[in-house]
Amino acid sequence: MWNSVTNEFDEPHVRTYAEILTQKQDDEGYRTASSVKQDCIESDVLEIYKLGNEPILTRQKHIAFLKKSLYHLSEPFQYLDSSRPWLCYWNLHSLQILGERLEYDEYSKIIGFLAKCQSPEGGFGGGPGQHPHLASTYAAINALCTIGTPQAYQVIDRKGLKQFLASLHGEDGSFRLHKDGETDIRGIYCALSVAKLTNVYTPELFKECESWIARCQTWEGGFGGSPGMEAHGGYAFCGLAALVLLGKPHFCCLKSFLRWAVNRQMRLEGGFQGRTGKLVDGCYSFWQGGAFPLIHTILTMQNKVFNSAYWLFNQEALQEYLLICCQHPRGSLLDKPGKIQDVYHTCYALSGLTVAQHSPKPSIIGSTNLNLVKLIHPLYNLEDSCATNALKYFSTLPIPD
Ligand SMILES: [Zn+2]
Repeated sequence: MWNSVTNEFDEPHVRTYAEILTQKQDDEGYRTASSVKQDCIESDVLEIYKLGNEPILTRQKHIAFLKKSLYHLSEPFQYLDSSRPWLCYWNLHSLQILGERLEYDEYSKIIGFLAKCQSPEGGFGGGPGQHPHLASTYAAINALCTIGTPQAYQVIDRKGLKQFLASLHGEDGSFRLHKDGETDIRGIYCALSVAKLTNVYTPELFKECESWIARCQTWEGGFGGSPGMEAHGGYAFCGLAALVLLGKPHFCCLKSFLRWAVNRQMRLEGGFQGRTGKLVDGCYSFWQGGAFPLIHTILTMQNKVFNSAYWLFNQEALQEYLLICCQHPRGSLLDKPGKIQDVYHTCYALSGLTVAQHSPKPSIIGSTNLNLVKLIHPLYNLEDSCATNALKYFSTLPIPD
């Protein structure tokens, strides 16, 4: 495992090429399809680390890419037509992390668009006139909270939202993602996140959820999408975050979760994989990395001896992967070197970058002036002031019937 390379007296440590080279996988003489792919990505990444480039966040390029993507996406992204509130959220949240705000008129247009995605039954669909879905509801509400104006908050039909959530809640504690749809752990997380943010949460609305989530924790320690499924970074974040939002983190076996999560950080690349035996991917910088502030909080509450100034993963190595290997020369952050530019990976790579920087004692590799990004609230994955302002605004309104 990683040795902690940072202590209270040291500057954050960027690994040397020689140090990285010692971290190559050992396939113990058995080549498999997975070990061959792992060799390829290790070679690609080593080539990049060998150049000795400074880890510098190319902020203005990312901002330009994101602003362009708000109005134009190329043909390969047609499949995201039913995920348009997600595009708004990924884009606005990325800009917010980079410290960039849009003009009032631009926010107004986006607010108007998201209002059209809201269903008369409550909740938001993937586009105007589409059936409401929990994932697009989460994305739309996070986008509106990132805009953070009264006009944005007031779009949300809270009474309809509460009815929509109640209609998806099963007696066993599961949540369907939409009417007659599948149940999975994302549903519970999305429902809880929006319910807490907009103050429509009641314990009755989430009855038995903790038991259903606990059934999703696997023998490896992470959470799968539903009971019996393989542990996976995205579902693991949703499961842990949902238990924290419920105030019931003891329904997670934290010891095995932590063991699983720390072992998802790749020794050579520095980024995270989503599942055992898979390749590194920039988006898991948040889905795995974002679990560590939650783990830290739970351990601090449960164990008074635990008093670390850092998260329990190698924060510097993750920053190296993102800043040295995952920045596209024309802006955006990537899954891995050689992949195409996209807003989803930009959002979750930046969300992971800010987690890696903002432990209780910050740890920022490279120039703080150039690389420092805004703090996020890890439970909602909103920029911290956006989460605080939304929670404050909605807390003054009564919980709808
Ligand atoms: Zn990915």
